[in-house]
Amino acid sequence: MINVPKGTKDVLPQDSYKWQFVENTARKTARLFNAQEIRTPTFEHTEVFLRGVGETTDIVNKEMYTFNDKGGRSITLKPEGTAGVARAFIENGMSSMTLPSKLFYITQCFRYERPQAGRLREFHQFGIEFLGSKSAGIDAEVIILAKTFLDNLGIKNLTLYINNIGCKECRQKYANALRDYFAKYEDGLCELCKSRLEKNPMRVLDCKNSDCKEINKNAPEILDYLCDDCSNHFKKVKEYLDVNGVEYKVDPRIVRGLDYYTKTVFEFVSENIGAQGTVCGGGRYDGLIGQLGGNDVPGIGFATGIERLLMVMENSGVEVKNDNEVTVYLAPMGEMEAKKCFELCNVLRQNGYVADTDYMGKSIKAQFKYADKINAKYVAVIGSSEIENNSVKFKRMSDGVETLVDFNKILEFLKGEGL
Ligand code: ATP
Ligand code: MG
Repeated sequence: MINVPKGTKDVLPQDSYKWQFVENTARKTARLFNAQEIRTPTFEHTEVFLRGVGETTDIVNKEMYTFNDKGGRSITLKPEGTAGVARAFIENGMSSMTLPSKLFYITQCFRYERPQAGRLREFHQFGIEFLGSKSAGIDAEVIILAKTFLDNLGIKNLTLYINNIGCKECRQKYANALRDYFAKYEDGLCELCKSRLEKNPMRVLDCKNSDCKEINKNAPEILDYLCDDCSNHFKKVKEYLDVNGVEYKVDPRIVRGLDYYTKTVFEFVSENIGAQGTVCGGGRYDGLIGQLGGNDVPGIGFATGIERLLMVMENSGVEVKNDNEVTVYLAPMGEMEAKKCFELCNVLRQNGYVADTDYMGKSIKAQFKYADKINAKYVAVIGSSEIENNSVKFKRMSDGVETLVDFNKILEFLKGEGL
């Protein structure tokens, strides 16, 4: 037997309706905020992620699926959604179209990580990217979009953490303060963090190594280094959230995974799925489009991991209703009648009704059992006398009421039943 590769998963029919619920909720919520879908390729030139995610991040350092294709180009399977969207935004001249550009995507992502609960090598994200506005209002809107989505899924007990990690100028001062601080503890840092000190010491704050975490505890905090513009922006974002009664906690330790995040960053964290509790992360990235060779267009976005959301829903008892049902199940008594069932099924489908019949030679008893399992609203058994009389009894499964219906009056009957 051949197994799925480590860190990947099949989604089987008994679970796929939950995925559909999450995806439909994502689309509906994005729509409420007038966001439109963007689809970008599964793979990009590696350069897109080197520049768009950043060379000092975990993703670029350790986690990318990168290979040379047969033409000798370096290709990477997308580890996240933002960089590809930014590339598409620039390539398609979207900065000269109406702004802000309010975009959403649902995509698979690939990261070479150690598989564990809530951490896969292929996983799925619903993400938002709003490009073109510097306003603190749009930061709050993006955060509220994430919250509305999580609420609409029925997830409760998430904590929203927000922070502001400044612009280039305040980050410069802060980076120096961090270097001074970490210089005292350099021997205690992991190898990767030692190499990060020079280029981007803020990455050390995001390290998952326990020694680094300990050292991080007393590190200087970004909020003490913000310039007036950044601290005003932070103040306004909080005001906008307050106006809408959105609860949040300020956590000066959140720095997020991308190198080009600026100002606002935020996370929604669940306490009940263990170590991988962050279900949604986002932030402003005013430098990203420029970094990838585009105009100086600001942006803000977030991404949520669908597998983690499903874990939280499962663990906190959120029930998803499987509303896939079958309007009519036609049960043939034998091979002779199967053809009639086949014909009627297709008439029903052409008229928009979900219909099914038997191809396994099941007994009538077994067919009724099956009809029950697939949530059939009506079952009609067709034998030789039904064919002779050109009519069949429709059994309404909710109350057992039976109605004799002419073969060519089935559509009228269903309409009469309010379907
Ligand atoms: P973490 O700190 O848990 O590694 P991250 O900062 O790398 O998360 P992001 O790049 O912000 O994660 O991705 C956004 C969301 O995607 C995360 O909040 C999480 O829900 C989900 N996610 C990230 N990596 C994985 C993975 N390997 N498997 C499943 N979901 C993931
Ligand atoms: Mg990660």
